[in-house]
Amino acid sequence: MKIISVLGSTGSIGTQTLDVVRNSEGKLAVYALSANSRADLFEQQIREFRPRIAVMMQEEKALYLKQQVVDLPVKVLVGMEGLLEAATAAEVDTVVTAVSGSIGLEPTLAALNAGKNIALANKETLVAAGELVMQTAERNGCSIIPVDSEHSAVFQCLSGNENAVKKIILTASGGPFRGWSRERLAEVTPVMALKHPNWNMGAKITIDSATMMNKGLEVIEAKFLFGVDYDQIDVLVHPQSIVHSMVEFRDGTVLAQLGIPDMRIPIQYALTYPERWENRLPELSLAGKSLTFEKPDLAAFPFLKFACSCGQTGGTLPAVMNAANEICVHAFLAGRIKYLEMHELVERTCQAHQVLEIKDLDTVLTADRWAREYAASQINLG
Ligand code: NDP
Ligand code: MG
Repeated sequence: MKIISVLGSTGSIGTQTLDVVRNSEGKLAVYALSANSRADLFEQQIREFRPRIAVMMQEEKALYLKQQVVDLPVKVLVGMEGLLEAATAAEVDTVVTAVSGSIGLEPTLAALNAGKNIALANKETLVAAGELVMQTAERNGCSIIPVDSEHSAVFQCLSGNENAVKKIILTASGGPFRGWSRERLAEVTPVMALKHPNWNMGAKITIDSATMMNKGLEVIEAKFLFGVDYDQIDVLVHPQSIVHSMVEFRDGTVLAQLGIPDMRIPIQYALTYPERWENRLPELSLAGKSLTFEKPDLAAFPFLKFACSCGQTGGTLPAVMNAANEICVHAFLAGRIKYLEMHELVERTCQAHQVLEIKDLDTVLTADRWAREYAASQINLG
């Protein structure tokens, strides 16, 4: 039996992870769960999965939750301290990092330092501090198995051939505004951007998909996970989301991984690797389907190229870009800035930043905090 902690269990990846546990016939067990705001759903999860630790980030909600679950033998913890305990508990084998945003960085590093394997959904962690995270994993002999569908695909295609890679080709759905001009994008509202054609995801990543910042974050994620250079990573738009990514090898062979667009498949694989377990998900049916590929429109979606250039500069710049983007996405969702302003503000924040080399976690956290404050101050000026 594998014992897991799920950080962010009330979210899209978190609930799907629990679905995988539910269907594992007792081969997966939950030791700790964490939530931020959704106390009622969290209580249901605690009743069903009986974790020993339940972390509620928000203090008031934690007080409420404590009263709701007094009848259960669960320890209710609060805030970052609680997350760190959930990530490092001695009983846990694997930590699923399914929180949204760079808040996942500290618990991920703590988990690695405690010798835990990571099933990594929280890409912002690798964007903010990829080198630090990968080095910490290596030093502690831990594996980081990707949950992100593209990276799970690459991971599976690479298997055994890591030294013969020529190129990684990440596929992208193109989001809800594929084919739109920059002028037309000026009119995009949060309601329009929250409708993704193929995937049902949390709000933050759905907006990132609509701006293609998500693919930019994924390029940086791939760079660190697979140890390749930026010029070895290409992006192809594949609107059907069936081919989850590809790897081209030096002999000209290209391997691709295909599947229905359902995150439970890569989540399950991250938890069962190197085994493959059965499940009850629908089969992929290809008959009569056409699979198409096209180049991304970098003029309409400048975030993709911008994120790659921040990645190339390195140091604290990707952390700053990511933090500013988090602020902008939340401001866009709250109706405080327009769709096109997200790019302007993230770019302005990056330009104002004095890039530093990342020496330790503190350097990253300071840069992240600075970027949040700077981006927020620009929004308040506007
Ligand atoms: P959701 O917004 O659906 O869920 C986020 C989870 O994190 C929730 O449990 C939420 O709690 C919790 N959370 C939010 N803010 C905080 C915080 N400040 N402190 C602690 N916990 C917090 O996100 P997703 O599940 O969509 O995404 C999670 C991660 O996985 C992201 O990094 C995303 O990029 C990545 N990912 C997601 C995919 C998807 O299909 N959804 C695909 C590939 C990667 P609560 O709900 O209680 O407020
Ligand atoms: Mg993805």
